[in-house]
Amino acid sequence: MSSPRIDVDLGKIRHNTRTISRRLEKRGIRVTAVTKAVCGHPAIAQAMLDGGAAGLAEARLSNVKRLREAGMTCPVTLIRTPMLSQVDDVVQVCEASFNTEIVVIAGLAAAALRAASVHGIILMVEMGDMREGILPQDLGDIAQQVVDMPGVVLKGIGANFACLNGATPAVAKMQTLSALANDVEGRCGPFLQTVSGGNSANLTWAFGAGTTGRINDLRIGETILLGVDPVTGQRLDGMYSDACTLVAEVIETDARSVCPYANCSELSVVKIQRVPNTSGTTRLLLAIGLQDTDAAGLEMCPGSSLIGATSDHLVIGTKDLTHCVGSEMRFQMNYSALMRAMAAPDIQTNLVNGQPAPQVREANGPDRLELV
Ligand SMILES: *Cc1c(COP(=O)(O)O)cnc(C)c1O
Repeated sequence: MSSPRIDVDLGKIRHNTRTISRRLEKRGIRVTAVTKAVCGHPAIAQAMLDGGAAGLAEARLSNVKRLREAGMTCPVTLIRTPMLSQVDDVVQVCEASFNTEIVVIAGLAAAALRAASVHGIILMVEMGDMREGILPQDLGDIAQQVVDMPGVVLKGIGANFACLNGATPAVAKMQTLSALANDVEGRCGPFLQTVSGGNSANLTWAFGAGTTGRINDLRIGETILLGVDPVTGQRLDGMYSDACTLVAEVIETDARSVCPYANCSELSVVKIQRVPNTSGTTRLLLAIGLQDTDAAGLEMCPGSSLIGATSDHLVIGTKDLTHCVGSEMRFQMNYSALMRAMAAPDIQTNLVNGQPAPQVREANGPDRLELV
């Protein structure tokens, strides 16, 4: 099989989606699965839907087009506020989009009218992450303008946490978002279908002691793909953390030269980690580099450590002496490594367990892992 590649186990993606969807369903929250980290890969998106996601969300229009070209007809929401230059395409391929600028909403409305359709608008509220969002005090006015605008329909409000500045969703913030949903309804009339509380960083809040209020949707990418809670970094009970695995090939081995770096002039470009004890350590050169992934986001197996990375090479020190030229090394990835590897043109995606197993087998299969 060719390398470098990412082995994606679709059975594990289905399982992770099902596990998180069932747990959130008990809290009155549905899962909108986010496909941006896998560039809108249609089979991975389908596995998320098969696992119980209510719909898909994407940040990039190109990825939405990829989903549509593969024949996917499910609802897709654009979660990065649309570019004004793309409004005609947005209304063609997305049911709804997250918005913060009235000029863009007006553009979408005009595009929808040209296409004889209606586009859904979810207004993003700034709740402390300081990335996208309308200030809470401006929300009512903008919501009213959307309600009055032909071509668009106000579908809901949403917020995002812990992306730009790490502000995690505190209970009080989530209560404020619920209260804002009530305020908008009180002022503008229409029932808000969607109150989208955030992303994978909201899971601790969602499973916490308090009520979930008006929040009925979370946009989940990382936790489905990696099985972890991004806030704690811990694997969630009953979830697979190895659904996606990066595989790279050894192109050189060298038992001699794992030595401390006395004189490296390029320390600024290479993150060098010293191998603690170099005795019995082999240096491996792998045909993958910074152009393909975030080397610092690769989990090294026990006995191996990352010595450094350049654009096309990874240098690893290992005590595992079974590796030879032509052998493969496997790595779990963090979100940053996964996202870059999925977008890298030289990395193939190799799908495993493509067909959903029959229901009976699913019930006795990976679901045994489910502890809740
Ligand atoms: C990326 C993103 C998400 C998904 O975040 P995960 O941490 O992958 O769950 C949700 N909402 C918005 C607006 C995003 O940009």
